[in-house]
This record gives sequence, structure tokens and C-alpha cells, in this order.
Amino acid sequence: LMHLTRKLIEIRSMLLSIDQSDALKLPSIVVIGSQSSGKSSVLEAIVGHEFLPKGNNMVTRRPIELTLIHTPPKDGKIPAEYGEFPGLGLGKMKDFTDIQRTLTELNLAVPSSEAVSNDPIDLRIYSPNVPDLTLIDLPGYVQISSLDQPETLKEKIASLCEKYIREPNIILAVCAADVDLANSPALRASRKVDPLGLRTIGVITKMDLVPPEQGAGILSGNRYPLHLGYVGVVAKSHGKRSSNDTTVVAKRGENDYFGAHREIFGSQTSLMVGTDTLRRRLMEVLESSMASSLHGITNAVQLELEEATYQFKVQYNDRRISPESYVAETMDSLKLRFKDFTQQFRRPIIRAKLKAMLEDKVMDVLEQLYWLDKRAPELGALGSDPKLKPEDIEPYWRHKLEAASSLLTKSGVGRDSTLLVADGLRSLIDSIATGEPFNFHPRAAERLTEFSHMILRDRIGVTSDQVENCIKPFKYDVEVEPREWEAGRERAVQLFENEVAMCEQKLQEIKKKVGGARRLNGLVGYLKSIEEKQKERKLAADGEQVEEQPVESYRYPPAQLSDARYAMMYTDRIGILKLRLMALKSKRCRAGPQSEAFCPEAFLNVVADKLAYTSAMFINIELLDQFFYQFPREIDSRLLYDLDRKEIVEFARENPVVRRHLDLQERKDKLEEVMKQLNSLSTLRADPQPAPRRH
Ligand code: GDP
Repeated sequence: LMHLTRKLIEIRSMLLSIDQSDALKLPSIVVIGSQSSGKSSVLEAIVGHEFLPKGNNMVTRRPIELTLIHTPPKDGKIPAEYGEFPGLGLGKMKDFTDIQRTLTELNLAVPSSEAVSNDPIDLRIYSPNVPDLTLIDLPGYVQISSLDQPETLKEKIASLCEKYIREPNIILAVCAADVDLANSPALRASRKVDPLGLRTIGVITKMDLVPPEQGAGILSGNRYPLHLGYVGVVAKSHGKRSSNDTTVVAKRGENDYFGAHREIFGSQTSLMVGTDTLRRRLMEVLESSMASSLHGITNAVQLELEEATYQFKVQYNDRRISPESYVAETMDSLKLRFKDFTQQFRRPIIRAKLKAMLEDKVMDVLEQLYWLDKRAPELGALGSDPKLKPEDIEPYWRHKLEAASSLLTKSGVGRDSTLLVADGLRSLIDSIATGEPFNFHPRAAERLTEFSHMILRDRIGVTSDQVENCIKPFKYDVEVEPREWEAGRERAVQLFENEVAMCEQKLQEIKKKVGGARRLNGLVGYLKSIEEKQKERKLAADGEQVEEQPVESYRYPPAQLSDARYAMMYTDRIGILKLRLMALKSKRCRAGPQSEAFCPEAFLNVVADKLAYTSAMFINIELLDQFFYQFPREIDSRLLYDLDRKEIVEFARENPVVRRHLDLQERKDKLEEVMKQLNSLSTLRADPQPAPRRH
């Protein structure tokens, strides 16, 4: 039957990793007692080693889940004893003072403001000298609040103990023989949850400190009966601490003591004394408690398993996933999505984008150089005014055109066009990094943006230099073919028509805003009259500086005057645009590149077109191709291959959908495993041949 306890201890720790709900709990022995009652001494006596933290202060600050695993001799060899902290990955500890030190450190790591923590320490001890047992050591009850212990400590410890002494756990209530049992906080706590003492074992320590008759009286349990009885021990060494292991000496002391008082403790066979008896008693009690829990726990696990299986089917159609597969899929779909996105960066699209940017520049150049030019009306009147001879005015306008063309070609096209495309790439990456599933993976998203921006940074300088270099010829001379001319002229007409429409729309909006055309006319008339007056004053001042007077009016609010000023600007612009449209549509402009001096709009448009074409070509080679080549490779090297198993799991679990999936899958697997083990146990139990006892 010992196999049963051992198996069930394994199952118990598996169940603990599934969840902490009471339904899935197998019993463990919980050790409670007040400070200095001898709790640690008892535990160490059971284990046969000194391993618990010592000190004047309260040192047990976290529950210790102590699992004892009996390792039987193999091939006549006695296996070495060792301890292990499964949660810490420190490996096997053969020296029990290392275990003691680790426990002390773990305890001291609890901030003193908290004093106690609910987070248990998992400790396993493998030894041929221990029985299969699970024991939970809890902080000792505080009897007297001292100055350096917070007031709430008492309650904190009490509520922690309360949590652990619930069913189905077995309570080991440690009381010192020299303290009245009526004052034992351990017994008092256990009586609250187990009034009949059905699952409480009393341990009376320090039997050597009271007269043997009195000790025997306590053990008989007449005053405070416990169904499972009391065991008396002497857990402290009597001799000097000469031996390297005090527990050995302690044991000798115990044997000496009970041996010396055999007439009292030996005569009443019902009295249980000694650490060996205590161990045996604990094994029996745990075993029978486990055995009686077996049926219930099997049912509970079966139910949980059915539920988990059902949910797994319904929610995930039995589809299994692994963190690795999720990571791989995520990266693949990232690459795929990126590839889709690159469609937005095909050359014609880039060219159109650059062209639009350059057309804006053309508008700016025109506005700067032509529309404010005092001779601008000449251009419009050419052809209709017989006094205007083209050959007379051509040198002026040719000169102007050269200036305009160079303003355009030298406006930093290399930098601007490269940045335009790079910005496009950047916002593409940002949209990937902030979209699903990367919104769940902030660190990966950060790396993604980081390395993308780095590639871009590396390429931007080279690319813009290269583009600038390649458009250099246009800075000196642009040759225009008749076909190009016609296309440029048509495009200019289209742009101007759009611009006119835009200005008209704005005018309409202003009209509506100020309250109709009449109102706007009033406002404009008012502004014009002010302008007149100011002009007159300037004339009167005869060239001397006159201060501009701010326009103030009691009739019109300033916001409306400012609207009106915009309206005047749009009206002026519409006037110019319309004149230029007429010119662009005129025979002279249609005639071809020879009239370039008089149709700067057509000419500049051709230049813009050529610049866009060349820029797009080199941006494609220097920036886009490079980026598209490097990006997927960087995903592999910086997002994928960098991850170790732990990080892969972390990454996958960052996505809540995946986390839920993995959790359920894991729960189902574990429950299946537990169920398998439980089933194998029932065949074990059905075995008529009882397994040999080891202790
Ligand atoms: P804990 O605070 O409940 O863990 O108590 P300890 O095990 O640290 O024991 C408190 C004190 O009581 C220590 O000084 C022990 O040496 C002493 N002690 C423990 N068990 C016995 C015992 O059976 N007999 C005697 N005389 N002293 C004991």
C-alpha cells in the first residue's frame, strides 16, 4: 500500500500545478504550532537532518511545502540523500546546510513590511531514511507581539494557517508539554475546523521538561481528546552539541528519556511516544486519508477532464498548438503581410507619389516667380495685344524660366523624395507593429520597429545622394520632346483647373461662413477702401515711413475681416489661374516646346515628370529593393532565432487568445495524465497481494 501514498504524492503535486481549487486537492500534513513550541525540531527529527532556518527572530516567513521521497537502496547500495527546490533550478543539494541557507535566504527575501508571504516554497527531500510524506511547515503562531513585529502579523499568520488547515489536509498540532494545552493556539485553531479531532494529530514536544506522569497524562488525551491521538517526543538533544548532526544526538536523547521512564510510558500501550512512532503514525494517517480521498478525487478529476475535453473540442475543435508553432506562424504571416504591403511600393505608384510632391513644388515656384511678377499680365496678353511682340519680351521670360527650372531642380529633390518613400515604409512598419498580433507583443513590436528604422536610416543617406546625383543633368539643361511637351501642357491645364475648383470651393465656404455673398462683398469693399486710404496716406507722406494702422471696425468683427482677406486672396488667384489657363490652351502653347518661355507651367511640369521618373528609379534600387531584401532576413535573425525556449513560451503567452488555448490544452493533458495514474492506482489497489511495508 505504500506505493499508493507515493503515487498519490506525485499526483498531488501534479494536481497542485493544474489548479488550487479545493475540489482537486489531495491531503497533505500541515504543521502548526506557536513559536518555540518545538515545531522545527519535530520536522527535523522526522527528516533526520537539521535544515530549517534558525534564529531568534521569526524565520519561517513563507509556507514550506516539504515533500519527502523515500529512495530505497538499489543493488545493495544506499542512495545519497539530497534536497531540491524544483522552482529555483538550483539542482541537487547534498549538503543540508545549503538547504538551510537557501531557506533562510528565501525567508529573508520577504520584505519585512510584509513579514509573511502566502507564496509557498517547494522543497523536496530524497532519502532512504525518510518515509513518503508531504508536510507543510507554516510560520509559528505569535504569542506575544513584540516591538519589532507588526501588530497585524498575528492575524496574518493566523489567516495563512487557516487557509492550510482546511479539508482534506491533516493537521499536525505541535504543543510543548510545559505549556498548558488550553493555551495552545495550534489546538485552538484546529478545533475550529476539526472539532472532533478526526484529522488532527497532537504532537507534544519537550516531554523531558515535565514530570513523566504529567507527560503521560497529556498523551492520554483525556482533557482534550483527539481522534487521531497525541504523540509525545523529545526532539532536543540533551548532550552537548558535539556531533556534527544534532538530530542524531537528539534521537539518542529521546531514546534515553523514554527508556528511563519505561515504567510509565511502556506500561500504557496506548501511549504513543518517540519520533519513530510519530513518523509511522503520520504515514498511516496520510495513507488512509489519501486512500479515502482517492474515490472522491478520481471522480473530481474525471469531471474536470470531461469538462476540459469538451471545452477543447468546442472552443478549438481539438486543434493542438505549441508556442513554437505560434511563433513560426506569426513570423510567416508577418512576412506574408509585408509582402502584400510591398505592392503599395511598386514603381508606378511611387512615381505617381513623387510626381504629386513635385507638382506641389511647381505650384510654389510659379507662385513665387510668376504670379507676383509685375510683368505677369504680359504673358496673358501676348497674342491678343498687337503691341506686344514675342521677340521683345522673350529674353526676360526665358531668363525667368531658367530661374524657375533651377529653383525646382535644386529644391532638394533627392532628400525630399527619399524621405517621402522612407516615411511611407515607416508608417507601413508602424501599422504592422501596432496591429494584430503585435499589439500583444510589445517587446517584439519594439524590436521590429527598431530594426526597420535602422535599415532605413542606413539607406536614406545613400539613396538621397544617389538620386540627387542622377538628377544633376536636369539642373543644367532639360530637353523637351514635343510629345512630352503636350503631356506636360495637358497636365498643367488639369492641375490649374483643379486649383481653380479648389479656390472656388474655399470662396463658397467663406461666403457661407460670413453670411452670404452680400455680406462678403460688404466686407471686401470695406477692406479695399481701407487699403485705398492707406495708399493715399503713403502718398501724402511722400515716401516717408508711415505706420501701418491696424484695421479696426465697429461694423465688422475681426474674424470676419480675416475671412474676407482670404476671400480676396482666392479671388485674385482664380483670376490669375484663369488667365493662365487661357494661355495654356492657346495656339502658342499648343505649338510645342519652342514656346517654353511663355508657357512655364507646361515646361515645369515636364521637368517635374522627368525628376519623378529618375527619382523613382533610383529609390527603387537603393532603398526599396534593399529594404525588401533585408527586412524578412532581419525578422528571422532578430525576432526568431534570438528566442530560447522560455522566451518562445513567453512570447506565445503574451497573446491572450493563444494563452487561453495553451492553458486549456495543458490542463487537459495534465488531467489526462493524472487520470491515467489514478486508474493505474485502482488496479494496484485491486491487487490482493499487499505491497511490502518499508518502514
Ligand atoms: P519552533 O519555534 O516551534 O520551531 O521551535 P524550535 O524547534 O526552534 O524549538 C524551540 C526551542 O525549544 C529550541 O531551543 C529547542 O532546542 C527547544 N526544544 C525543542 N524541542 C525540545 C524538546 O523536546 N525538549 C527540550 N528540552 N527542548 C526542546
